[in-house]
Amino acid sequence: MSENILIAIAWPYANAEIHVGNITGSHLPGDIEARYHRLKGDNVLMVSGTDSHGTPVTLRADADGKPVEQVYQLFHNQFLELFQKSGISYDLYTSTHTENHFKVSQSMFLALRKNGYLYTETRPQWYSPPARRFLPDRYVEGTCYFCGFEGARSDQCDNCGNVLEPEKLLNPRSKVDGSTPELRDTKHFYLDLSKLEPDVEQFLCDRKHYWRETVVGQSLGQIESEGLQPRPITRDLDWGIPVPIEGWEGKCIYVWFEAVIGYLSAAIEWAKISGQPDAWRDWWTDLTAKTYYFIGKDNIFFHAAMWPAQLKGAGVEFIEIFSEEEGVPLNLPFDVPANQFMNLEGQKISGSRNWAVWGLDFLTHYDPDALRYYLTINMPELRDSDWDWDEFIARNNNELVATWGNLANRVLSFAYKHWEGQVPEPGELRQADKNIITLVENGFRSVGEHLEAVRLRAALTEALRLASEVNKYLDTTSPWFEIKSDKLAAAKTIYTALRVIDSLKVLFAPFVPFSSERLHTYLGYTEQLFGEQYVEEQADSLGTHNTLRYWPPEHGGCWEPSGLRPGQPLVQPAPLFKKLEPSLAEEERNRLGK
Ligand SMILES: [Zn+2]
Repeated sequence: MSENILIAIAWPYANAEIHVGNITGSHLPGDIEARYHRLKGDNVLMVSGTDSHGTPVTLRADADGKPVEQVYQLFHNQFLELFQKSGISYDLYTSTHTENHFKVSQSMFLALRKNGYLYTETRPQWYSPPARRFLPDRYVEGTCYFCGFEGARSDQCDNCGNVLEPEKLLNPRSKVDGSTPELRDTKHFYLDLSKLEPDVEQFLCDRKHYWRETVVGQSLGQIESEGLQPRPITRDLDWGIPVPIEGWEGKCIYVWFEAVIGYLSAAIEWAKISGQPDAWRDWWTDLTAKTYYFIGKDNIFFHAAMWPAQLKGAGVEFIEIFSEEEGVPLNLPFDVPANQFMNLEGQKISGSRNWAVWGLDFLTHYDPDALRYYLTINMPELRDSDWDWDEFIARNNNELVATWGNLANRVLSFAYKHWEGQVPEPGELRQADKNIITLVENGFRSVGEHLEAVRLRAALTEALRLASEVNKYLDTTSPWFEIKSDKLAAAKTIYTALRVIDSLKVLFAPFVPFSSERLHTYLGYTEQLFGEQYVEEQADSLGTHNTLRYWPPEHGGCWEPSGLRPGQPLVQPAPLFKKLEPSLAEEERNRLGK
């Protein structure tokens, strides 16, 4: 039965390029799941967008001396290019700076207010006398009062991952000019999360049995130790979403509160621009829908505790306020399979020190499937992993090229040459042929079970193991020699091998879609496995923004064993992957940190 699957991926800030740690942390695992569910025939919506409002963006604009609109658009357009080149197949990748997102966020704000979860309070906040302005979250840095880390932002510590109360920060300094800020009174709206704590705890306990221990453990642990404390949801900043209440001009909705609402607003925007304005409800109000949030470990608490609290607190009133229709509750997350971090050559990735492998730069030198393969087989699912250039090249050459690419290429080339460019007619299959077909076809269950549970490393390892089994089958049957004495026996072997390669192509497709798509063509199919990505400009009262969209194929690939027919015309094949020189590792290491 077809399911409604929402793939919600963390919204990157428009203040820095995307590196391999970001890709393996959220975008790639989300894309693999989306592609798998599309092959299964599920009703998939994969959304994200650029977080254009955060103080990281305004700080970057200040540093570059450019208008903030220009800075966010520049990074946003780079993200669109990267996602196209790496095949991160968003149904909609948009931005938070849209009229639609403003309206959705403001409706959520008003729904929470109506339900009694908001209150106002005047509290001291960091203020810069020389700049004559308040300094929200990232504008102030100092020492974390949990772990003593000296480079903590006032709202969150990147070292221990704790969310911080800004005024408690030790040794504060302004990020703008290094001066010491002072505390001054300012009035803000607060979300009373403490009232929603029992709901959030219940929500987490209900999902404890299937969530990653790293996610549920951290979230419940933090609630047990500190409880859910009220948090400000407005701030003194002029770039962002205006507070939708008279008398609050000049203050904006806090970015932590509105960016997560993007998962909902992007679904609504997608429905609208697709000409079916109510379709977003398939994922947001249909109780059988499954919503998956792909994020890094620094974002766990926001997605596993605070976002469910916002959704629960907004209740049926969100729809009543947003569209003046009869309200129903919004779906809470089904799973938050957050990843840990990927390091680089044993050190933490750092953009400012250029200790990073940048996505777009990487793709000017290497193929996207080589990237996707290594980032999946080495994904930081339960613990931090490490990008190691020697390992990248070794795994590319020994696994992707030797085990899978060469298998497909030599069988296809051999068939193309000896059977006049057609799938050979095998006659009756032998027991060994039937055995390997059954073994590989069982992969639709075994690889599929891992994918259902978001165990992507295990899923890819299993697909690779099946490819090794086919190599063993060919070592035993040796069609390259068989053909000299018994062409019919060789035809049985090659037919069998083509059929299991046709199945393996589908099992590998969510992970390495570019090569599976080519292989699909070589095997003589004229349809595509997946659809096309394209950029489309949208216009509203705030201006224009580019979006990345996905055009599904008319008859796409299916998560089903091959039904390859004898006599099907083949296309002259070419190698699927490139072998890499081991000496490249040293060259790449020399570029790091410069
Ligand atoms: Zn800390």
